Formats: sequence, structure tokens, C-alpha cells
Amino acid sequence: MSTAQVRPATGVDITSVREKYLAERDKRLRPDGASQYVRLADEFDIGDPFTPVTEREPLAEHTTVVCIGGGFSGLVVGARLKEAGVEDVRIIDKAGDFGGTWYWNRYPGAQCDTTSYIYLPLLEETGHMPTEKYAHGPEILEHCQRIGQQYDLYDQALFHTEVTDLRWDADESRWVVSTNRGDRLTAQFVTMGIGPLHVPKLPAIPGIGEFAGHSFHTNRWDYGYTGESLEKLADKRVAIIGTGATSVQAVPRLSEACGELFVIQRTPSSVDARGNRPTDPEWFAEMATPGWQRRLLANFADVLGGVATQDLIQDGWTELSWQLRNEMATLPAGERTMATRMTLAERADYEKMDQIRSRVDTIVADHDTAQHLKAWYRRLCKRPCFHDEYLQSFNSPNTHLVDTDGKGVERITAKGVVAGGQEYEVDCVIYASGFEVNTGFTRRSGYEVTGRDGVTLTDRWADGMRTLHGMHTRGFPNAFVVQPSQGANLIANVPSNIVDSAATIAAIVGHAVRDGLREVEVTAEAEQAWVDLVQTAQPSAIGGPDCTPGYYNNEGQDQGSAGLRLVGYPDGPAAFFRYIEQWRAAGAFEGLEFQ
Ligand code: NDP
Repeated sequence: MSTAQVRPATGVDITSVREKYLAERDKRLRPDGASQYVRLADEFDIGDPFTPVTEREPLAEHTTVVCIGGGFSGLVVGARLKEAGVEDVRIIDKAGDFGGTWYWNRYPGAQCDTTSYIYLPLLEETGHMPTEKYAHGPEILEHCQRIGQQYDLYDQALFHTEVTDLRWDADESRWVVSTNRGDRLTAQFVTMGIGPLHVPKLPAIPGIGEFAGHSFHTNRWDYGYTGESLEKLADKRVAIIGTGATSVQAVPRLSEACGELFVIQRTPSSVDARGNRPTDPEWFAEMATPGWQRRLLANFADVLGGVATQDLIQDGWTELSWQLRNEMATLPAGERTMATRMTLAERADYEKMDQIRSRVDTIVADHDTAQHLKAWYRRLCKRPCFHDEYLQSFNSPNTHLVDTDGKGVERITAKGVVAGGQEYEVDCVIYASGFEVNTGFTRRSGYEVTGRDGVTLTDRWADGMRTLHGMHTRGFPNAFVVQPSQGANLIANVPSNIVDSAATIAAIVGHAVRDGLREVEVTAEAEQAWVDLVQTAQPSAIGGPDCTPGYYNNEGQDQGSAGLRLVGYPDGPAAFFRYIEQWRAAGAFEGLEFQ
């Protein structure tokens, strides 16, 4: 079957919709790209509003492993290391406790967007049954603490501590870790799990410092101002700037609580149904037989890759892939080509986005407001959102959508926010403006990494990441980067990548420690071969130059060679997980050299 024989999209004129997508993108492209954003400064940089910082003496100690970052990455790596018999593990984090993104992002309504049963790591090991299909923030934070306690990771943890420098000491075969608390720590191995979204950013809107009311970023929610249940907002006029995944979750709670709420929108999110529900303990007990979470994680990757025989996840991420797989299965074997799959996927995307836009009409009563809430781009141009109360909020008389037709806020004044030529006087401005993403690794980490012969990671990666498996870089022995690119790159569930990376690190470090090996480093040949391999990957389905600007496509700007390296294993996440499992099981650690 040629791809031309695929049935036409139902109810969508693809040609005209494609034109509309491009027109909406063009409206939003701007020459300053990602530099339209700045970091939090002055009154926004309020430190840690959740845990008081306590004084302590600087430390000068050695540990076998230092994990930088106490979010899912540090916790799961730490847990797996302990299981592998490596007991001496120190986690360092700038926060006052474990949790990473779930420590900082305590905005009302925060919940996971991938089903809890695969989003929360180590559920089987800890015996925790998530209370809901999509657990809320406090439960996820508590789960992080549970992992920390169960694996004795608290004893050696250093909280409210930021690494300021990481330097390889070749004579001693170890890393020297400096911190903002004056520590001078050493470690044979370091892992870096700094998280993809941990540096909050603000739009550089003129007048932002002039506002006389109260303002804060969603990543540093000010419960002192709002009250723990937002009760102090009852008589307040509040503006929230931004309508990404954070805002979609926070707006329903704000809408219930505020006197008046103004939702300032530059680009609407696509908001599909959520379908959250409490976990049925009987279902869970039946499903959770030994190895259950591993099976679900593998199934998620297999469904997205089109190779599963059943969808055990059944959420908004697997829905389209599963539908596509079923449609492909109806074709004779010889016609199930990649070209047909791509055509079907494109058609499914147009149909899905049409359905999501139609959903707005069925929920939002005011016709004009509904039109402005419709997303005109391919589904993976921006982060897909799921919510059963967000669109409904705009039916409340106190909740006003301020659509700026792609232009954004014009300025902030002493009294409020100017958008579309009108000033909205408010008591409080909440910035749901996201996080720094596409800048260099060492800029976001906040410390430089100086490896063998004084070479910095910034210089080594000047033209983009160079790794084996997304983890090892030549010249940086005994250091492991924990992040998705050049590995599985399974963006729909970042914990899938972390859980797998932790198994790899535990296997390598466990082997080195057991056999008394001092150093492990990727060979130059293995690194080059891997970089060459990943660059044969198809461009990611996420973002792309035709997309409306956002962090998925570096605000529409070409990232050059660095962007081309932000790819995954060419055959996709499921294939990567199978490949790396065999690599670990072989025990030869091909591509690494030990001494
Ligand atoms: P985003 O970067 O997704 O959204 C920022 C928002 O601010 C966008 O709507 C953006 O508009 C808007 N904005 C920026 N500048 C201006 C301006 N000058 N005027 C008006 N609006 C402006 O940040 P989020 O915090 O929402 O989400 C970031 C990521 O965090 C998500 O994509 C997701 O990966 C993760 N996340 C995960 C959650 C989960 O799993 N449960 C929940 C929340 C977030 P525009 O679109 O036009 O750029």
C-alpha cells in the first residue's frame, strides 16, 4: 500500500490547518529567542521558603560516591548503589530535603502528568501504593523522603548545599567537590542528576521591578502570602502569567480561591481529559505481582515505540501510539512500512488536536473565550497537558482569560499588568513562566567540571554533548551524567530514563568497588562511535522548526550542532532499554576502560 492510500483525516482539512499552524508560529517568533528570559533576581530570589537554613561547619571528608542532586536521580542512583553493596554514598542538594522538582514546585494543584505507577520510582521496593492514578505533589515529595529513609540516604546527605566546583585530581584518582558552604569533599565517583528543569526563569518584561504589589514564581510558591489553603486570596485580584503545564494545574485552585483571577496567555496549551481516579486497592493487589513496575515501565516504552501487544498504562501519552499500532496491525504485513506509520501518525495528530480544540467548545461557555483557548500546533510542539478542571475554570465569573494573541505581556506597572493595551490592576502577580532549558549543562548546573588535564566540560561540550550512552564523557573519569539525551531520551516519562541509568551506574561502580579498580573512563573510540550513532536518529517528534516557539524547539531558533546532539538512540527508547540491559548483563562494560 502506498502512503497515499491511507484514509483522509476525519473532519480536518489538513492543508488549511497546517497553514494556520504556521501563521500562529510566525506571530510568535521573536529575534531574542531564549534570551527573552532572565533568571530570578532581587525580590524573586527568595532562597528556600520551605525549610530554614541551619548553620554547620564546613566538611572535609571522602566518600566513595557523591551524587549531585537529591531529586529522583540522586535518590534512585543512591538506592541502587546501596543494593549493589556500595554503602558510602553522599547526596548533595541545594534544597532543604530530598525531592528535587517536587521539593520546589509546591504550587497548588501540582500533580504528576504520567501515571503514578510508572512516574514514581521504586514503588515495588518501597511497597508504596500511589493513592491516585496521577498522584499530587505532597504524596510525591513524601515518596522521595520514603526512599531516602528506606535506603539510609539521609545520614550522609548535605542539604542547603550547592556545589560550586568539581575538579578531577589525577594523582589521587578522585574528584574534589567544593560547595557554597565551604566544604572541600572528595569522592572516587560522582553522579550528576541536576534535573532538566531546575532553574526558574522570568520573562524580561519592561517594568517588572516596578510592581508595588506582591509577586513570586510558581517554583517558589509564597504560602505566607496566599495562606496554606489559598484562603488569603479571597479578597485579592491576582494575575498569573503563563499557561504552560504549571499554570494549567494551578489555575483551577486559584480560580476557586481568588477574588478575581486574570490568566494572561501568550500561547494556549493543548488540554486533554485527565481522568484521574483513586487507586483501587483490589486492582492494585492483583496487578502488583513481583516485577510489576519493571513490566509497566517496559510496556510504556514499548507502546510508544509501537511494539507492544497490550497497553497496560492507558493514559494520554500511550493513547495515540496504541491507536496507531492497532491501525498498523490491520494492514497486510508488507504494507506496515515506516512511511505508512509516519503518514498515519501525522493524520492522527491532526485529528487529535482537532478533538482537543473541539473539547474546548464543549466545556467553555463563552464563545470568544473558547476560541482563544484553542491550541494551533502539532501536539508535541509544546508539552501536552491533561486536566479536568482547567478549562472549566473559565466558566467562573471571577476568572478572566487575557489573551495577548501571541504577543505576551507588554509591561508591568506599579499597579499591575499591561496586556493588549489594557492595564489590569492586581494585588499579586504570579509568574508561571517556566525554567531555563536549552543553555549549556554547566551554566544550568551552577558549577564547572574540570576533568583530566584541566579540560572543562564546557569546552569539551562546546559543540554539543559527547557521551557514551548519554552518561560517560572522555576526559572525565568516574563521572556519570544522569539525563535522557543520547540515551533512551524518553521525554514522556523522565523517571524511566533515571531508573535505567541508576541500574547502569550501580553495575559499573559496584564492579569497580568490588574489584578494587580506581578509575573507569569511556574510550575515545567508543564515545565517537556513539556520537556518530545517535546522530543518525530521526529528528525528534518533540518540537521542530515548524512548531510554535517554546522550550521544546529552543524558542524557534536553530541550536546548531548542539541541538543535533540532543537526540536519543536511533531505534527509540524501548530499543535502548533492551540494548543497555544486554550491555549490563554481558558484564564486559564494552566501551569503558578500567584501571
Ligand atoms: P512553560 O515554559 O511550559 O510555560 C511558560 C509559560 O509562560 C508559557 O505559557 C509562556 O508562553 C508564558 N510566557 C512566557 N513569557 C511570557 C510573556 N512575556 N507574556 C506572557 N506569557 C509568557 O513552564 P511551566 O512551568 O508551565 O512548565 C515547564 C515544564 O515543567 C513543563 O513543560 C513540564 O515538562 C514540566 N511540568 C511538569 C509537570 C508534571 O509532570 N506534572 C507539571 C508542571 C510542569 P508561550 O507558550 O507563548 O511561550
